[in-house]
Amino acid sequence: MKQNNNFSTQVIHAGEQSTYADNTIFPAIVTSSSFIKRSLDDSPDYAYGRVGNPTRHAYETSIARLENGHGAVACASGMAATATVLDLLPKDSHVIVMAGVYGGTFRLMQDYRGKTSGLSASYIDLNDLEALAASRQDNTRLIWIETPTNPLLQLVDIQRVTDFARAHGILTCVDNTFCSPWNQRPIELGVDLVMHSASKYIGGHSDLIGGVVVAAGEQLFARLRAISMAIGAVQGPFDCYLALRGLKTLDVRMERQCSNAAQIARYLSQHPLVEEVYYPGLESHAQHELCKRQMRTGGAVVSLKLKADRQAMTPFIEQLSIFVLADSLGGVESMINHSYSMSHNSLSHEQKINIGISENLIRLSIGLEHVDDLIADLDAGFERLRTACA
Ligand code: PLP
Repeated sequence: MKQNNNFSTQVIHAGEQSTYADNTIFPAIVTSSSFIKRSLDDSPDYAYGRVGNPTRHAYETSIARLENGHGAVACASGMAATATVLDLLPKDSHVIVMAGVYGGTFRLMQDYRGKTSGLSASYIDLNDLEALAASRQDNTRLIWIETPTNPLLQLVDIQRVTDFARAHGILTCVDNTFCSPWNQRPIELGVDLVMHSASKYIGGHSDLIGGVVVAAGEQLFARLRAISMAIGAVQGPFDCYLALRGLKTLDVRMERQCSNAAQIARYLSQHPLVEEVYYPGLESHAQHELCKRQMRTGGAVVSLKLKADRQAMTPFIEQLSIFVLADSLGGVESMINHSYSMSHNSLSHEQKINIGISENLIRLSIGLEHVDDLIADLDAGFERLRTACA
């Protein structure tokens, strides 16, 4: 830059802004929207931030590796990731979906893509192979697997469903949000695509909204990248940095959170005020054998039904001192969620009851706190519940 340029030019160009260190331990947060071409013939790795960004690339390549996939695209949210997967499908496609999927997934497929892209969906128990075969249509293009489901933690036998899908040329996608690649790696079981709400375990600190889709193969990855570039719902560099930073501690976080959850599930299963505990890591869980086959542990979410009505339960839910009442899960802090009135509020009463979401159901997302403190917090809550029920 010439020394005698005007101040308004200097404030923009002074210094060495286009050089950054290449020996940093952690990838730099590169916020630049555009990248400089040295000449007309130059084709640098990055040209424009929607198409590619070094911080996003560092995160995408990391999660793709962790899921054992070919490549990943980072999206603005979990729902943007789901929408990206649905954009792989031609107009008027049919999808087979695990009944009881996350409410937002149901809403996107049913209320939006149903109207705009002619998408139709059959919601079934994917473990019922007869129902799976019966629901297949000529235009079935995708099987959407969520395992474990939210909040009842039902599992789907991934291998069996992918065998069926392969035999009929149908794509498969697993929403792996509840497990993270630490606990379950669906691509190793034959799945084509893995999707995450990175807002949960991948970020891990309740400080970002993000989503990611990992493709098992090269061709699908190329198509996903093209869609991501076309619709532009990409993850920004700051959030990619947070997600990548979250990934670095995924192993230790998941180990502690899942171990805490297993102890809490055992504690709850012996409590007289608990009607039922939902946790696939418990030997008494109907799908415990499947859990051992396809997951590393039972996970860090525990759901339960209390022996109490809504009124009696309210102080239990609202007055815990460590568990925070929140819609999300997967953070370092333990959270409690009343699925009926919170995460699944958009469903009608009948829809909720049909999928087992009754008013006495609670979902716990277990964090990194000391397990004794978490159990003491629940114990105090049960004491209040006992008084309310008396
Ligand atoms: N999938 C599951 C299982 C979820 O729990 C959520 C959010 O709670 C989503 C997808 C959507 O993710 P996001 O909120 O990041 O858009």
